[in-house]
Amino acid sequence: MEKHIYFDHAATTPLSEEAFNKMKPYFTEIYGNANSQHAFGREAVKGVDEARDTIAKIINCRPNELYFTSGGTESDNWAFRGAARAMQRKGKHLIISPIEHAAMIMTAHALEKEGFEISYMKVDEYGFVDLEHLKSIIRPDTTFIGCMMANNEVGTIEPIKEIAKIAHEHGAICFTDAVQAAGVLKIDVKDLGVDLMSMSSHKIYGPKGVGALYIRTGLSIESIITGGHQERMKRGGTTNVAGVVGFAEAFKIADRDMDKNFEYVSSLRDHFIDRVLAEVPYVKLNGPRKEGRLPANADFSFKYIEGESILFSLDLAGIAVSSGSACSSGSLEPSHVLLALGLPEGLAHGSIRFSFGKHNTLEEVDYAVEVLKAAVERLRSMSPLFKPEGEIKNV
Ligand SMILES: *Cc1c(COP(=O)(O)O)cnc(C)c1O
Repeated sequence: MEKHIYFDHAATTPLSEEAFNKMKPYFTEIYGNANSQHAFGREAVKGVDEARDTIAKIINCRPNELYFTSGGTESDNWAFRGAARAMQRKGKHLIISPIEHAAMIMTAHALEKEGFEISYMKVDEYGFVDLEHLKSIIRPDTTFIGCMMANNEVGTIEPIKEIAKIAHEHGAICFTDAVQAAGVLKIDVKDLGVDLMSMSSHKIYGPKGVGALYIRTGLSIESIITGGHQERMKRGGTTNVAGVVGFAEAFKIADRDMDKNFEYVSSLRDHFIDRVLAEVPYVKLNGPRKEGRLPANADFSFKYIEGESILFSLDLAGIAVSSGSACSSGSLEPSHVLLALGLPEGLAHGSIRFSFGKHNTLEEVDYAVEVLKAAVERLRSMSPLFKPEGEIKNV
């Protein structure tokens, strides 16, 4: 029997049936432009307003603090560029973590070319931000401090509330990329104290190509997509009404089932981690052991083997995983996240991310362990690098 086992939920998730059904009429019947002054437009606006109210309630903000975008990448770009540029008369020093998503890292490089200076906070071997180091690199001209709420590659959950407090004590604003955390962890933006927060729909069983940026009332950032009057004149472009409606429905379901999903998915992950560490020699679990880790994430480096070759072996057996992050795979660069955690280049090349979802089963997890064991053994037997050294000890 041909298997199709999906363990790549940190890359994207399938659209939920409920979200899909909620979206359908917005493609065929309620197709008006949400910016139009007639009944068709008003119907579309109703869908968008409802969606905004739904998400605002979940993250505890006002609906007018939420701006819909084309996804996490755009929200990250907008928050980072928009805030940096709006505050540049006060200062041009920006701080982010070194394990941010490419949407932030590449934007940092682009801002450097515009004359901004970027510093990176240190993270420890598990990926947790070093708050003392962060305090030590803040300067009077620091305007922006950005850190993801949870890392997409190794699953580390960061102390955002503390980071926001430190930022505000030093007169900087705090941004968080909550793309991996939204719908998985309870988020209250007022309690966290963040000024800007990115979210994306397709990581939480919603449609692709839609997301949101939370912008705290009173904070003004520059627009990066200029155009029509949409999103209270802050983000041009005809609203993706069906997408926004599906996003909100998916978010509502994720919030409703949060505890149940957390418990179930983390039980799959723990079973998987325990078995791999016990049964596969010379592997390293990247990221935190269990506490402070996203429930879906298990990321391993396999000594003496390229991550890519394991990925292909698993793919042949019908199992979909990711090597490094989906964005850096395809390149031969080691993962910037694993390098920031202090892994040597060899191990940073040999990593595989398993990210589980609510539809996965324990049988699938057990099957994956068997396939993985066989693949690792076979690849090592062919590898000229494989020189088992002393006692087998996994960490
Ligand atoms: C997926 C992801 C993004 C990008 O979101 P898109 O909606 O795919 O553009 C940004 N940040 C993190 C942490 C992600 O996991």
